[in-house]
Amino acid sequence: MAVTILVVEDEPAIQELITVNLKRTGHMVLCADSAEQAKLLINNVLPDLVLLDWMLPDVTGLEFARRLRREERTKAIPIIMLTARIQENDKIAGLEAGADDYITKPFSPRELIARIKAVLRRRLPEMADDIIELGGLRLDPTTHRVHVCSNDEPSRPTEVSLGPTEFRLLHFLMAYKERVHTRAQLLDRVWGDHVFIEDRTVDVHIRRLRKILESVGKENLVQTVRGTGYRFSVECSEESIG
Ligand code: CA
Repeated sequence: MAVTILVVEDEPAIQELITVNLKRTGHMVLCADSAEQAKLLINNVLPDLVLLDWMLPDVTGLEFARRLRREERTKAIPIIMLTARIQENDKIAGLEAGADDYITKPFSPRELIARIKAVLRRRLPEMADDIIELGGLRLDPTTHRVHVCSNDEPSRPTEVSLGPTEFRLLHFLMAYKERVHTRAQLLDRVWGDHVFIEDRTVDVHIRRLRKILESVGKENLVQTVRGTGYRFSVECSEESIG
């Protein structure tokens, strides 16, 4: 689960402590000591998660969280607030500003890692290394392999060979099963930020993915929702032939 985490914290000792521990866990770390610097970094690289100190030298973490939530490009980034405050009112203000969770200072590295993991699992399940089994498919993000689990021969699953884009696409759709995604959402989340390609690229890769799944009789799992986009569903759909 290697994700890019932006740490916005003006106290060097705490910034260092967090950075060392996140890197040890395999995460990529960006550091900023003010909201302004954080904004510049975000303009270049969209992080997967932001650890945001409440008290910053320029604007408060609370205000910065609100700004991130207001902008289209950053509104979905998970935010964990770092705070010495433990007042009930502060927690509510933070949640209303869009924070996903809190870590109260002082905290242990174990708590930090555990909370990040929990937020990522909830907010970005496609970033987790969890094996997903759905509709007779078994997808393993660590080995990048997909198998069809057959009821007749459970001991000998058939491997489905997917290209890297089709794998990421299938992983994303399975991680958010039954949810419908627009082409724009899929481009953002599967192809990545700052990528300028056309919506129909998504259709091309969906077609490829279906063709591969068709060879194992699983093409109906990837469904077209007319006028909206695509979803992975284990329920049969009238609209599944798209
Ligand atoms: Ca501070």
